[in-house]
Amino acid sequence: MPVIRVALPVPLRYHFDYQTDSSQTVCIGARVRVPFGKRELIGIVWQIDPPDQFSAELKQVLSVIDAESIFSTELRDLLSFAADYYHHPLGDVLVSALPALLREGRSLSDEKQRVLQLTTAGQTASALDFKRSAKQLQLWQLLQQNNLSQSDVHAQELANAAKQLESKNLVEWLSEPYQPFLYQPERQKALPLNPAQALAVSAITQAAGSFSRFLLEGVTGSGKTEVYLQSIAPILQQGKQVLVLVPEIGLTPQTLARFAERFAVPMQVWHSNMTDHERLTAWQRSKSGDAAITIGTRSALFLPFRQLGLLIIDEEHDGSLKQQDGFRYHARDLAIKRAAITSCPIVLGSATPSLESLHNALQKKFSHLQLPQRATSQQVPNIELVDLKQQVLQHGLAGRTVEAIKRSLHRGQQVMLFLNRRGFAPALICHECGWLTDCPHCSAFMTFHKQSRMLVCHHCTTTRVVPHQCGQCGSTQLVPVGKGTEQLEEQLATLFPEVSITRLDRDSTRRKGSLEQLLATIQQGEPQLIVGTQMLAKGHHFPNVSLVVVVDVDGALYSSDFRASEQLAQLLTQVAGRAGRGDVAGTVLLQTHYPGHPLLQDVIQNGYSAFARSALLERQQTRLPPYMHMALVSAQSEDPQICPAWLGQLQQFAQQHAPMVQLLGPLQPPLERKAGKYRWQLQFFANERRELHQLLQALIPFAQGLPEHRRLKWQLDVDPLDLN
Ligand code: ADP
Ligand code: ZN
Ligand code: ZN
Repeated sequence: MPVIRVALPVPLRYHFDYQTDSSQTVCIGARVRVPFGKRELIGIVWQIDPPDQFSAELKQVLSVIDAESIFSTELRDLLSFAADYYHHPLGDVLVSALPALLREGRSLSDEKQRVLQLTTAGQTASALDFKRSAKQLQLWQLLQQNNLSQSDVHAQELANAAKQLESKNLVEWLSEPYQPFLYQPERQKALPLNPAQALAVSAITQAAGSFSRFLLEGVTGSGKTEVYLQSIAPILQQGKQVLVLVPEIGLTPQTLARFAERFAVPMQVWHSNMTDHERLTAWQRSKSGDAAITIGTRSALFLPFRQLGLLIIDEEHDGSLKQQDGFRYHARDLAIKRAAITSCPIVLGSATPSLESLHNALQKKFSHLQLPQRATSQQVPNIELVDLKQQVLQHGLAGRTVEAIKRSLHRGQQVMLFLNRRGFAPALICHECGWLTDCPHCSAFMTFHKQSRMLVCHHCTTTRVVPHQCGQCGSTQLVPVGKGTEQLEEQLATLFPEVSITRLDRDSTRRKGSLEQLLATIQQGEPQLIVGTQMLAKGHHFPNVSLVVVVDVDGALYSSDFRASEQLAQLLTQVAGRAGRGDVAGTVLLQTHYPGHPLLQDVIQNGYSAFARSALLERQQTRLPPYMHMALVSAQSEDPQICPAWLGQLQQFAQQHAPMVQLLGPLQPPLERKAGKYRWQLQFFANERRELHQLLQALIPFAQGLPEHRRLKWQLDVDPLDLN
């Protein structure tokens, strides 16, 4: 009997060997159920080797779930590359690319989907029958063109309308096997492109069928989405599928709507808020080729597309493309690999490209497509600094800011106030003795949430009731220090009592559907104040916002993280991009105590693109990514001594085995203690990627063999984004 090598989802970095009996046929890539210690696990057959002298002693595979590989060769190549590159256990990588139901062993044979179609009565109905319900009319019209799958119905929020029409016997559900989509002409005419857009679309279109990488750098409102739409159209015509990766789907319902309005082919979404069943359906629709367009967050990258024709990553600079725990992959980088394996083009789009991508474009590894102007006649917003020094402030707002807000409201426009800190205040302080509400488990303060009367640690989520007395001297004089969105909202209400205020942050959008509701309120365009965190910065199109106020930029100006300036410049540019997207010209006010700061001056006077080029030069001079390849080992333990001792030995090992790799640490990140654990890290920098990977390959088994290893938790992050 051959040796079956199975990749299992366990934190060990090799395969496990089994044998089969003669009744079982096993192929590479199939799921199998195997005994593992006292448990049973489901794993993926990764290799089948001829029998050797030990194979008779191997444990038996319990059952074979799939008759054929569950992964295409293409996906297998991608996933094994990912496991090698990120030095993550293969079994865990493979399994994380499967929907939960498949991970649990659900069989895939003869799966069908429910499809909605018109009954004979439905076919002979007339538009007048639906004049009282726009949704029913929309559904009826769509069904005249073609049948809709259950996910289409859900994606377009037509489930209720479907129920109503079903009760009137105008539509019916039937079961159909999944099959590749049929091309349908666009519903809506494409816009005539401006020259820069036309150049971009033609470059992307000409690359169809081959691996090519594009960086689409276009200022906010320059019409990147229109470029995506028109690049997608010919791919669909060839019957190929398109994947669009976006940072966070809940935040951009408008992007979804634009795709749905344009194309009549089946579309699906993929994000973290789906049920297991919805995920399985999406997975199957990708595999069958039924889903023509998939719009999803980072893990959509692992969907088993039958024939992928184009990959698009919108907001490619966004940090959410990087998974920050477990299997720490960067979806942008793996998407590029996937495009290479598939031989299809990939487009990375952003108004504020990451320095990594910009570097690749300047090095001519990526074709650089630029859209320097807004697509409509709207002006790029005017950015002004408001010096806070020696000013009398009203609730943290300078007189000039208050006046500007009044003027905009007076003109019937909306004003957005951006403050990247939720809650009422970052801490409470004792007025008598200076005691602060610090978290018992972290080296951080607990945020005061006034509405819920709670103190919450935003690092470990420890929550407690607001104390009446100081923990040190017993005084009852506890006052908030600093300002969060909740406080800003309250203070604005006193400054502008007659104006309605919408707050958009993680607290105000926790309930399901509340985000959509708040966004809809803003969309209606009534004059109002909009307060929010970085949720406001992402891709929204609010036509009636004419003024954006960044209440406090100072916090981020002096940070120890070498990426902080890039992130701040991106955030400011993205926030500024929300101003003046309708008919009104936009203004952005940045409140700061450091108006002379070179970063602010650079972004304001020269724009992100110039800033990014000088930031790249600085990275080159200081030998930092993207000019160096980086990895980070971080460790946590309740014992303050264990991590530095363990990391110290890793450091020595690295010095001996790879003298060319530079080390920084062991050191403590700014948040030294989190959830009761002391945190330490060791940073690795190498000129050559290969040097770094060879070192890691040898380092991991060494690190796991040290006695301290059992008393700490650790993670390896290749190309880390977050050094905290
Ligand atoms: P981005 O994605 O770069 O922020 P969008 O694609 O959302 O930009 O375009 C911004 C606005 O400009 C949208 O209202 C869009 O309809 C409009 N637009 C884009 N391209 C054109 C064009 N070629 N002609 C006219 N309007 C356009
Ligand atoms: Zn805490
Ligand atoms: Zn006190």
